[in-house]
Amino acid sequence: MKRALLFFLALSLCFSSVLLPAKAEGYQKYSRVELGIFDTEITLIGYCRSQQEFNEIADGAMAHLKELNRIFDAYNSYAGLNNLWYINRYADDAPVEVPSPLFDLLLWCKEKWDEGWRQNNIALGAVLSIWHDYRTAGLDHPQTASLPPMEELQAAYLHTDFDQVILDTEKQTVYFADPEISLDIGAVAKGYAADLVGDYLEEKMPSFLLSLGGNIRAGISPQDGRVNWGVSIQDPDDPAGMLDVLYLHSLSVVTSGDYWRYYVVDGKRYHHIIDPDTLMPADYIQAVTVVCESGALADYLTTALFVMPYEEGRALIDSLSGVEALWSLKDGTIYMTDGLAAMTRSHGASSRE
Ligand code: ADP
Ligand code: MG
Repeated sequence: MKRALLFFLALSLCFSSVLLPAKAEGYQKYSRVELGIFDTEITLIGYCRSQQEFNEIADGAMAHLKELNRIFDAYNSYAGLNNLWYINRYADDAPVEVPSPLFDLLLWCKEKWDEGWRQNNIALGAVLSIWHDYRTAGLDHPQTASLPPMEELQAAYLHTDFDQVILDTEKQTVYFADPEISLDIGAVAKGYAADLVGDYLEEKMPSFLLSLGGNIRAGISPQDGRVNWGVSIQDPDDPAGMLDVLYLHSLSVVTSGDYWRYYVVDGKRYHHIIDPDTLMPADYIQAVTVVCESGALADYLTTALFVMPYEEGRALIDSLSGVEALWSLKDGTIYMTDGLAAMTRSHGASSRE
């Protein structure tokens, strides 16, 4: 018995020395919070050898994010920069040459569209901008908040065919064959940006956690002896509370929820993810979290899953390798894939099936 116990102890010690990264000597945890980029709170945590080293890396990451924010900006123009605003304004006249991060993002979304993924359509801008205007007006003047007329939405929907966006990979240009089309990359831009900045951080400070609002990218294990980073998942019924904690490293975690951006009309909430079939806010899910390596894919999928009944979304996730998800349904039911349950603090017990 004693022997067996000793063997077990030796085995677990041996395992822990294999599995647990040793505490890296001389490394300390530093953090930086910035507001105003991507309309959200950015947090960067990382293990470095000195405050000065961290400051330099964090400055680089924030400068990179600011530049991406300008390139992906749909609302403002910047001298000499053919950003998203510029494309939406001029790409119907003639092909517009755009900077690589934006062109690559559009191409990536086009590939998904060509594969038949239709719930997340970045060419839905004509419809989304109507909802955006009504939401903004409703937030400014809650007493007179109203819904966009369906005829207006349907007329805009005629101009949402992504096939009318012509991407020339050689010249890196974008052209709108339909002059009334417009692009809205809100469903994928933050995840895409987190990947680009994450690649920079992987080189400079591989042990990091970067959070852009609901988009998180985790680098390698924290350099303090822990294997994983802890990433909490908000309780959709009580955004101040926590549903569970995910333990992971070298992965992206993205959450979309109906409690983030919404306005109220006649006592009912209308959030910001629009179902292309009904042209109304999607009505299936309260919040959804996706975990996989690519932040762009995780962000893209959270929006797509929002616009599908759970069963359909589950079939989609089960068909993809290396992608895990958690759904919070409106009736309080929580579903999660086995792979995600294995990452949770509760080992799946927070599932309320
Ligand atoms: P968040 O921006 O809150 O992180 P999402 O990643 O789900 O949430 O993106 C929501 C944004 O995506 C909306 O604000 C809008 O700009 C855009 N969007 C809404 N519905 C769709 C849709 N069906 N397809 C593509 N983009 C959408
Ligand atoms: Mg998204």
